[in-house]
Amino acid sequence: MQFIDLPTQQKKIRSKIEDNIRAVLDHGQYIMGPEIGALETRLADYVGAGHAIGCASGTDALLLALMAYDVGPGDAIITTPFTFIATAEVISLLGATPVFADIDPKTYNIDPIRLEKTIMALISEGSPDIPIPQPLIMNAPKPKGIIAVDLFGLPADYDRINAIAAEHGLFVIEDAAQSFGAVYRGKRSCSLGNISCTSFFPAKPLGGYGDGGMCFTNDSGLDEIMRSLRVHGQGRDKYDNVRIGINGRLDTLQAAILLAKFDIFDEEIALRQEVAGLYNRYFEATGVLTAPYVPSDCQSAWAQYSLLSKDSQSRTMYQEKLKKEGVPTAIYYPKPLHLQEAFAHLGYKQGAFPVTEDCASRIFSLPMHPYLTTKDQERICKACIS
Ligand SMILES: *Cc1c(COP(=O)(O)O)cnc(C)c1O
Repeated sequence: MQFIDLPTQQKKIRSKIEDNIRAVLDHGQYIMGPEIGALETRLADYVGAGHAIGCASGTDALLLALMAYDVGPGDAIITTPFTFIATAEVISLLGATPVFADIDPKTYNIDPIRLEKTIMALISEGSPDIPIPQPLIMNAPKPKGIIAVDLFGLPADYDRINAIAAEHGLFVIEDAAQSFGAVYRGKRSCSLGNISCTSFFPAKPLGGYGDGGMCFTNDSGLDEIMRSLRVHGQGRDKYDNVRIGINGRLDTLQAAILLAKFDIFDEEIALRQEVAGLYNRYFEATGVLTAPYVPSDCQSAWAQYSLLSKDSQSRTMYQEKLKKEGVPTAIYYPKPLHLQEAFAHLGYKQGAFPVTEDCASRIFSLPMHPYLTTKDQERICKACIS
């Protein structure tokens, strides 16, 4: 059994993928070929964004978004400690300071109440119930923006996050690397922040056969800046450079592959709902493990199906039982970002974010993909209670 079954998907669309790759080999425009624009238009329409900018990875998408807002030294960007390293890495890369705010225990996404308190603590240089470490306060970074993450495919609470941001004059970046295809109150993921960033890493809901990513925005000024930034800060032409940028283009071949995969994406999202629904019914009925929570006005893209066990030992027990049955599991994420060595200089200590630390010690994920059979799911569920 596979954790994510890409071969079955490939079998279904192999000839279309080959046709699209052949078309690129025939026209030979490997860099910024017509497939890039075609994919940008289709995905912008799908998510309901005015502009889409294809780029080299989800990490570059986040980097381009922060660069478009001129983020640098002295800026604080508030984000969640319960995410993949890339979310906060890009903040540090630009010389800005990541400041973490704890998560909501049900959704695992940034808690808007904690977010607002963290902003207040930064403005007033510390507050008793919000852990802003001393080394971080010494630099006195000023809040400039928020990166909210749609963890496991479930959008964060953008109505509240955007309201808080507006009140304090901050921008909001949606890290939608895991949530392409999700819905929040009638709107699609990738349309929920000032800039939204997704990833086409093979294991993501819409994955290519290599690295890739995309930024989305309704702001034509930001769109223009990000288009320039992705090609070395290009101006009117190739050899006119108006700002410092990066080499952050999406490959034409990846765009061609993604166009073929996008044809069946809606169908796959529907299949993911069915797979998640069956898991949910089972775990809600048996109560042995805590099933993921999805608010009634949201739909997850189900990048991961994650369960909470009662403690760390019982998690190990479940993982071992499943392994014996040939069922792969994974832990996203065993070590929160504030406890990573890479961020030791920020000065956060164990205990700073109790909800995140608790979830990190108990969470694990089951196989989740559109082609998981009912039979396999039953095997997985049975192994959990055996
Ligand atoms: C995968 C991921 C990224 C980075 O995407 P890449 O395409 O691998 O660079 C960023 N944030 C989150 C939450 C992710 O899951």
